[in-house]
Amino acid sequence: NINGASFPLLQGRQCATSPVLSKVAVFQKPVFIHQGHMQWLWDMDGRRYLDLFAGVATVAVGHCHPKVTAAVEKQLKKLWHTTNIYVNAPLHEYCEKLASHLPDPLKVIYLTNSGSEANDLAMLMARIHTGNYDIITFRGSYHGGSQQTMGLTSQSSYKYPIATSSGCTHTMCPDVFRGPWGGSHCRDSPVQTIRQCSCAQGQCMANEQYIGQLKETFAASVPSRVAGFFGEPIQGMGGAVQYPKNYFKEAYKLVREKGGVCIADEVQTGFGRTGTHFWGFQGYGILPDIVTMAKGIGNGFPMAAVVTTPEIAASFAKAYHFNTFGGNSVACAVGSAVLDVRIKEDGLQQNCHHVGTYLMTELAKLRDKHKIIGDVRGKGLQIGVEMVKDKTSREPLCPQAMMEIFEDVKDMGVLIGKGGLYGQTFRIQPPMCITTADVDFFLAVFDKAIHNYMDRQIGAKRH
Ligand code: PMP
Repeated sequence: NINGASFPLLQGRQCATSPVLSKVAVFQKPVFIHQGHMQWLWDMDGRRYLDLFAGVATVAVGHCHPKVTAAVEKQLKKLWHTTNIYVNAPLHEYCEKLASHLPDPLKVIYLTNSGSEANDLAMLMARIHTGNYDIITFRGSYHGGSQQTMGLTSQSSYKYPIATSSGCTHTMCPDVFRGPWGGSHCRDSPVQTIRQCSCAQGQCMANEQYIGQLKETFAASVPSRVAGFFGEPIQGMGGAVQYPKNYFKEAYKLVREKGGVCIADEVQTGFGRTGTHFWGFQGYGILPDIVTMAKGIGNGFPMAAVVTTPEIAASFAKAYHFNTFGGNSVACAVGSAVLDVRIKEDGLQQNCHHVGTYLMTELAKLRDKHKIIGDVRGKGLQIGVEMVKDKTSREPLCPQAMMEIFEDVKDMGVLIGKGGLYGQTFRIQPPMCITTADVDFFLAVFDKAIHNYMDRQIGAKRH
């Protein structure tokens, strides 16, 4: 029984409602997925859905992409495992290919199985390399659900009352929509917010204020030396939150002055999703010391990675790091196929830029039309639509209203996600192969769902 709906086939262990699912994707009437192809999913009754969430930006090149599926089949017949302890072709080919997509000196790769595991490892590396302990990240962030990374994660719904990693401090998220500073021109996005920007001509006041908050965090909450700073280029679970354009540049400088290393969590933003660049951090002109990646790396196959510099890797070689499944041959074959498809064959990074810009531009028109759409933001196909009760106060739309619209969109055949500290943001992070025709379909559905909600509100007031 999930939220009142009974699904006999889902009884037992799978029924456990995970906090992630209940926040981002559980419907009042759950969808029971049976099959997928590219940007489409089918349920047990044969209903087709346009998937605009891709299992949280995970199915990057498309569900059951024929070339990725063929690569898995081929590798399954040859060799599955005992590979990362011996020299073998899939592992080496994959690492070379992945390294070729990263700037110097980010060339040392550690393969893991999930984003949480990758971020665990990055925390450990930062601490071992610097000899310091404290790590800073943003409020509202999600970096994993393991006991270590839960300390980094900063959303109460994903936190259990246990001792998570100590030494994790959350600084103010430089959110130029919901936060006290910023607005129109602070962020790198093809669309602008309708909120007036508090910045003076030629100078980003929001950046100064949020960097000021980081300085205060250094002064008040951590020792004089820190191990590192984690940041997603666009905060995914926080609701596709974007920061002032220069924030990272200045934050990285401050962190390094305190002896720390800078870690880019590219679990959602990596592999071309932001459209203009292969990695989200490149959009800010910064160079992290450690990059973590998962989700889209394997198009849904469980794999993840940490990439760092030879210098940090040398410090980390003090003990032997071992991972049984990280770098297994099937995962490496999948990862290689994903890189080939995405880069060479299907031009998916360019598609993210093209289709994503179109989607955001059209969503901005809906924002101007509907009083409950407060903000449209993002880059490429990493998009957030923040819903409000009122555009001036920016009070978040209540969970019940969000659920009604979410459910209606699903019933009309489109799957989207939710996020944000108050669950107030719809998230669009589809397979990177969607088309402008798919976008037009979604826009019509979304517009209709908002009209339906507003009509119900008016009806309720009349009675
Ligand atoms: N980092 C980010 C930015 C994420 O969004 C997630 C998962 N939502 C993770 C890390 C953790 O990844 P996983 O679920 O694979 O452990």
